[in-house]
Amino acid sequence: MKPRLQDAIRRRSLLADGAMGTQLMLAGLEQGSCGEAWNLAQPERVLAIQRRYVEAGSECLLTNTFGASRIMLNRHGHAGQAAEINRAGVEIARRAFDGRAGYIIGDMGPFGGLMEPWGEFTAAQVREAFREQARALVEAGADAIIIETQTALEELAIGIAAAREAGAACVIGSMAYDVTLDGSTFRTMMGVDPEQAARFIADAGGDIVALNCGTGMDMERARAAVERYRAVTALPVMAQPNAGQPKLVNMRVCYDETPEQMARGVEPLLAAGVNILGACCGSTPEHIRAFRKEMDEYCAAGRRPGEFEHENQTL
Ligand SMILES: [Zn+2]
Repeated sequence: MKPRLQDAIRRRSLLADGAMGTQLMLAGLEQGSCGEAWNLAQPERVLAIQRRYVEAGSECLLTNTFGASRIMLNRHGHAGQAAEINRAGVEIARRAFDGRAGYIIGDMGPFGGLMEPWGEFTAAQVREAFREQARALVEAGADAIIIETQTALEELAIGIAAAREAGAACVIGSMAYDVTLDGSTFRTMMGVDPEQAARFIADAGGDIVALNCGTGMDMERARAAVERYRAVTALPVMAQPNAGQPKLVNMRVCYDETPEQMARGVEPLLAAGVNILGACCGSTPEHIRAFRKEMDEYCAAGRRPGEFEHENQTL
């Protein structure tokens, strides 16, 4: 049996993947259209992206289901296909590993609105949408579920509960922090700081505390967040920073950190105790390849114990 993700990463840190959204755009997805629908309409294009991540050294793949809750899909007229799109996302990731050892992390992003009393969605609607998505991901065989790019604890709690109810073997809560205007610290748009988030995720029944995306959250800020998580929780930690800042070049959004620049931050993150390292918006298979090299060198130097082996190489 393959160990649970939260157990495997205590023996050796694992490399996750890089961005999906910006890679889908490069593959021809129009800005503002539904990338998750490609799991059904253009599965080979999604598969090609994930294969490049596996070839670059990713050991965890996030499914292409960030916006595949019924509420998000409804904007594109695909709400009726929510379960199908999520199942297909897991299937594509499984094909990308092609029998190699690895973990499929079912991706659940924000539902994309505000809940009552601030917005038009009821908690019951959000709960129903997250339950449906989590169930489809788990039934299709996801090894874990990540509730990611979260800024509000209320929504995060609903996501974690939905993943637990669906029977997920591992549940990851991942926050999107923004660096404050004076640059002194970072917190989510809704004012949540890392200590608060880590304690909340642990209390809510999460298995891994994480951060991803955000504004100004480079590798160094991610390291600081990992240290702040570590100071208040014994749960393992995952980090997926963006490839720097978005810039508009020839009417396309580009991110300004090269693989070499980002890779310099890998060793400090490993030293800070990150258990799963990946990258978010703007990162590419080349970024992940550069991370792989740094992680392998770090392990080869014996600065982290243990090799983790699958007794069963097939998923
Ligand atoms: Zn991102």
